[in-house]
Amino acid sequence: MRGLLLLSCLSALAWGQTASEWAARGRSAYEAEDYGEAVFLFRKAHRLAPDHKLLRTNLATSLLALARQQLDAFDFRAARLTALEAVEVGGENAPLLYLLALISVKASEDERARPWLNKLLELEPLHLRGLELLGYIEYRGNRTAAAVDAWRRIAEESRSEKLLRLLRKAEKDLAIEQGFHGWETTHFNIRSDDAVADPLPKLVGDALEDAYTSVGYRLGVYPERTISVLIYTSETFEELANVDWARGMYDGKIRLAVGGLDEEQRNDLAALLRHEYAHVLIHELSARVPAWVHEGLATWLDGSSVVAAQERLRAAGELPRLAALGRSFTNIKSARQARLAYDLSLCFVERLSDSWGEVRLVDWLRAMNQADDAEAAFEEIFATSVADEEGKLRKELGKEP
Ligand SMILES: [Zn+2]
Repeated sequence: MRGLLLLSCLSALAWGQTASEWAARGRSAYEAEDYGEAVFLFRKAHRLAPDHKLLRTNLATSLLALARQQLDAFDFRAARLTALEAVEVGGENAPLLYLLALISVKASEDERARPWLNKLLELEPLHLRGLELLGYIEYRGNRTAAAVDAWRRIAEESRSEKLLRLLRKAEKDLAIEQGFHGWETTHFNIRSDDAVADPLPKLVGDALEDAYTSVGYRLGVYPERTISVLIYTSETFEELANVDWARGMYDGKIRLAVGGLDEEQRNDLAALLRHEYAHVLIHELSARVPAWVHEGLATWLDGSSVVAAQERLRAAGELPRLAALGRSFTNIKSARQARLAYDLSLCFVERLSDSWGEVRLVDWLRAMNQADDAEAAFEEIFATSVADEEGKLRKELGKEP
């Protein structure tokens, strides 16, 4: 169902001038990509000529296009309702079933996607994007073997670099997770290396449930899907993260190194888990958040001391520039440079929160979904530029703006 089936033979149709007029206007609106208007007009035509097959098909096609547009605008609820109306009008078909599954996944309701994917794969067992999406929810749900299975079925045909990268990553995970055991808390699926001694995994589960409530409250986000967590020994984690200064990371799953902690590090565990869980929620708000915003906010939300960060920044020589901090802080190999990057990002976020309040930070994250980049979203929400605010912060820290 790519376009409308309505051609230029409108006047020859036997279902009356009024319906054909509405349909003609609906077609113009569809061609102008005004799908909301097209749906409105085709609905009118369909009501006047309910038995006309072509009209029914065109209404369903317009509904599908509108639902895609609503999904692109992150209006998941509207997208789902529109897609369900399309099913009602035109019946189930592969593009609609895929779209309904995708809406659920984007809305972080993975289990609601499953029935739609099952129907889709019954209809087309090798539906490329359907199997890709199925693999994605299996992987995100800590069912690595099932994810590998789904992705292997399409790896050859899909030829997508992104898919192959994901498959390689999942295969590597699968090999590592051979000796893992797992369990569920209310909101988390946790799998831990058998070599990580009790009671650490239990402590992780409890602290994460606390974070679900406390960090969730600050950002106003409570995901419906189960969040996956993997607990490694320090050695395995270091290999995965490729840096020696980190103890946790989030790449769609929370990955932690909590084996062999001393007393003090155990006390830090709650802060580490608030930090990693903050990444989960920031990602829920927008998938287009740059690393320094992610880290600044997560460090702000984990309760790190701003005063200590300011002191370290004042004492440091040259400070990095936010825009130059790259796509992930794990690209920073020096622990000292990484510390400065976290401190600077934290102080920037703290200044914003102090001046405008935390709610505005959430508005900024949401605005990133629609804007060209984080800077453009920043100007929209704060009516000033990142560079200007960064300059003020640097001056406060005794540096060149
Ligand atoms: Zn982080």
